[in-house]
Amino acid sequence: MPHSFLVIDDSKLHHQMYRLIFSRGALAGSTVHYATNGREGYGLLAAHPELTLVLLDLNMPEMNGLEVLERRRAEGLHPHIPIVLVTTEGSAEDEARGRSAGAWEYLRKPFQPADVEHLVMRALAKAEPIA
Ligand SMILES: [Mg+2]
Repeated sequence: MPHSFLVIDDSKLHHQMYRLIFSRGALAGSTVHYATNGREGYGLLAAHPELTLVLLDLNMPEMNGLEVLERRRAEGLHPHIPIVLVTTEGSAEDEARGRSAGAWEYLRKPFQPADVEHLVMRALAKAEPIA
């Protein structure tokens, strides 16, 4: 089954990195949606209940990553979709706030392609229905 991802990040450089990661190996053929701020990203999250995983940058204009998580929780939007909060500093405080707002996992910038691939595999294992 082809996978579907959502990248919400204001950095065009990171969009390019994700584009590369999601075009190779087991992830080749994946559908990837891109947003450059939290507001746009929230709209795409609402429109795509089939998403395998969301990569959500913390620091963004319009709505930041924490605001996206908090709104999603308040509205009960697609709670089954795992969201990875991508942080720069990776401060314990940001991580705790993200966790309590509903982040499934963390990814710290700068990251390696293998870090993203590992998170995707974990999300897929989590989503697998029990036969
Ligand atoms: Mg950013």
